[in-house]
Amino acid sequence: MFENGQQATVETADGGESASSFDLRFSQVKALLQKEFGETAFRSWIAPIDAVSCASGTLTLAVPTRFIRDWVKSHYADRIRSLWTQHFGAVARVDITISGKSAPKTAAAAPAGVAYEKPAIANENAAKEASAADFSVALDPRYTFENFVTGAPNEFAYAAARKIADNEKVSFNPLFLQGGVGLGKTHLMHAIAHAARAAGRKVAYMSAEKFMYDFVRALRFQDTMAFKARFRAVDVLMIDDIQFICGKDATQEEFFHTFNSLIDQGKQIVISADQSPADMDGLEERLRSRLSMGLVAAIHPTTYELRLGILQSKCALMKRDLPQDVLEFLAQKIASNVRELEGALNRLIAHAELVGRPVTIDTAQDLLADLLRANDRRTTIEDIQRKVCEHYGIRLADMHSPRRARPVARPRQLAMYLCKQLTTHSLPEIGRKFGGRDHTTIIHGVRKIEELLAGDPTLRSDLESLKKAIAA
Ligand code: ADP
Ligand code: MG
Repeated sequence: MFENGQQATVETADGGESASSFDLRFSQVKALLQKEFGETAFRSWIAPIDAVSCASGTLTLAVPTRFIRDWVKSHYADRIRSLWTQHFGAVARVDITISGKSAPKTAAAAPAGVAYEKPAIANENAAKEASAADFSVALDPRYTFENFVTGAPNEFAYAAARKIADNEKVSFNPLFLQGGVGLGKTHLMHAIAHAARAAGRKVAYMSAEKFMYDFVRALRFQDTMAFKARFRAVDVLMIDDIQFICGKDATQEEFFHTFNSLIDQGKQIVISADQSPADMDGLEERLRSRLSMGLVAAIHPTTYELRLGILQSKCALMKRDLPQDVLEFLAQKIASNVRELEGALNRLIAHAELVGRPVTIDTAQDLLADLLRANDRRTTIEDIQRKVCEHYGIRLADMHSPRRARPVARPRQLAMYLCKQLTTHSLPEIGRKFGGRDHTTIIHGVRKIEELLAGDPTLRSDLESLKKAIAA
């Protein structure tokens, strides 16, 4: 039923309307689960779920393996049932079947009707034993280099990733991709994996959470030999979200040994984390220094231009059109990360499709109220004050105090200026947070900084780095 029903709809790009909106609905449930359970759980367990059908009060889903089925059943099935019921009508039960496909179709985040290429997944391990089938997590076929939009914040990381993918020879080891949530680490990692596999190299890609899960399981079944053995045949080992093993000593220890032995054999390793090795808490010293050994490539927060470019590229990929002013509105307002930006775009596209009308800025404002609010709230006056204090090495109390000595007064004015620029608070509101100052004092502070900026390059560069720190 699955193979010639849903699957065909998605891949031939001309499927029936009902199948499309069914897919869209399930993609919305997935998006909610992603928010609720976080990125790591999403990648490992939720992304691989396919929606098959919904009939007679039963929502039927399919996952690639028995292992994933058991996990989804015990961890997420209830929540899926209640989310579906809440948004799309009551279902009494959720059935999960095993599709047996090595690569789950990950159309969920995009509207149906889009043709995807089948990823080339080398899955020799799959047949050997049940656990080996789960060794390398399925790749998202959309996460390719071609679909990755580059700009100043990510071009270095992109170039490094390409180099790893294109070169048989190891040039730096490990490649450590560092960047905040939703900025494209996983995308780049999958892109490397796709390209390396296409070139015939054996790639194992998994989250650090899964590495740990498998390792703990191996310990429990006294099967660590087999656990280690599976890494032997690998040419490229990729571990996503390594921060997950911070503070988990036994796992770190095992990872350290796996890491060293692969490096010694000249195998390529690619790691990602939300922080650089130097900044990660709970990381063993020797592992920290090992991880810093290769190349640390940062993916910086997006710029407006990059966000707009990404939106345009996603529309082109999905063969959907949104008015340019709506795209600009999104790029302007949803600056937190690309995942949220993409979520917003998908929501608008889904809406346009369901109601059959083009989206306007007004509708966007309605449909995205929650996201817009969250993005607005992201920069608070307190955040700004804290960052400014850190930068200048003064105390937070100096932001509120009446002291007028220049070493505290100037940073305080800069903080006022940033609050005016980066938040939507009114001048009196800002004044209140600066020790109950009058709004005219805030205006004066803002003007003063504007004046100084014109002739003071140091202040300008302070301002730039503060803006970066605040946006991070
Ligand atoms: P991370 O792993 O850093 O949390 P992801 O790689 O999962 O982030 O990216 C989140 C989403 O944003 C993905 O759907 C990804 O395809 C998309 N994305 C991120 N950066 C880019 C980019 N530069 N171009 C295209 N899509 C991007
Ligand atoms: Mg990720």
